[in-house]
Amino acid sequence: GFKCGIVGLPNVGKSTLFNALTKTAAAQAANYPFCTIEPNTGEVAVPDPRMKEIAAVAKSQNIIPTRISFVDIAGLVRGASKGEGLGNQFLANIREVDAIVHVLRCFEDDDITHVEGRIDPVSDAETVETELMLSDLESLERRIVQIRKRATGKDKEALAVLPMMEKALELLQDGKPVRMLLRDIAPDDLPILQELNLLTSKPVLYVCNVAESNAVAGNEHTRAVAAMAEAQGAETVVISAAIEAEVAQLSDEEGKEFLDAIGLEEPGLDRLIRAGYKLLDLITYFTAGPKETRAWTVKRGSKAPQAAGVIHTDFERGFIRAQTIAFHDYVALGGEVAAKEAGKARDEGKEYVVQDGDVMLFRFNT
Ligand code: GDP
Repeated sequence: GFKCGIVGLPNVGKSTLFNALTKTAAAQAANYPFCTIEPNTGEVAVPDPRMKEIAAVAKSQNIIPTRISFVDIAGLVRGASKGEGLGNQFLANIREVDAIVHVLRCFEDDDITHVEGRIDPVSDAETVETELMLSDLESLERRIVQIRKRATGKDKEALAVLPMMEKALELLQDGKPVRMLLRDIAPDDLPILQELNLLTSKPVLYVCNVAESNAVAGNEHTRAVAAMAEAQGAETVVISAAIEAEVAQLSDEEGKEFLDAIGLEEPGLDRLIRAGYKLLDLITYFTAGPKETRAWTVKRGSKAPQAAGVIHTDFERGFIRAQTIAFHDYVALGGEVAAKEAGKARDEGKEYVVQDGDVMLFRFNT
């Protein structure tokens, strides 16, 4: 599955947020027991109001959301790249995730020590980023020596990766994260960059953890983070981990009332999960029938057989075609039969690129 790693300095609220994510009613949605894969990894349901609409039309008995994983990555302190704290373990854990959720402390609380002695989330973000960049720099400098040699000897593999390595190295030496390359990378070059598995090439979103009183409007710290994030082309989510921890304990209805009283429309966790999903560059397609409406996840740009393979490898291997109805047609027309009659059920083949919201039915050989 796809994984977001929760990182940040100590005492910023990572564990509080992680625990809330894994305790939330959505995480424990019916039919699919919440599972803690490892103590620090949890799967959460991706909230998507379209499922209810489809289920109403298809008269489905059950709704099964799609899921992504969050990993609580502890142990980052200044000097992690040099092995301080749980440095090496920390960096190894980040290598395993697909995207980074960077939690920043935007709440004041004299009882809770800040490792740097003051609340300054922008500076905290730089501290963490610096450790990741130092680690990347060291690993690239080590690896590139060999690659340069092999490239001189006209080794094909080395020639293919060297230009990307040089570009990444140049950025890092300049004190910049490798993800800046993502802005105008050619699609063909993306796998080469991903293959390097550098920490600062992973997409990032910032979570501002605020006091309950700032959950709606944010504060000066969240505004500073938002400005920093915008300059990087990154998203920011303002959340009060303390509120989320409380809401996660409540039933859906009680939770709604609680949020209403504060002036929040939905749990911050829902916003966070959706932002994580977007960060991972994932889209959702649906299957629908009387038994269940179910959401499935594919990487944006996936073709129909790959999408079928998410359900079962046999579906991919024996793929023939996919009856495909756009979400809006499915709901507006009132389901599969009506969509067919209106000519809105397309027969798509192997080269079809799946679109977010497609309602699909696969035909395959066994
Ligand atoms: P981590 O080290 O980043 O995982 O941080 P924790 O989640 O363990 O939180 C550190 C401390 O800060 C705990 O005592 C939390 O209860 C507290 N904390 C977390 N979020 C908030 C918050 O939004 N407001 C306040 N006042 N305390 C918080």
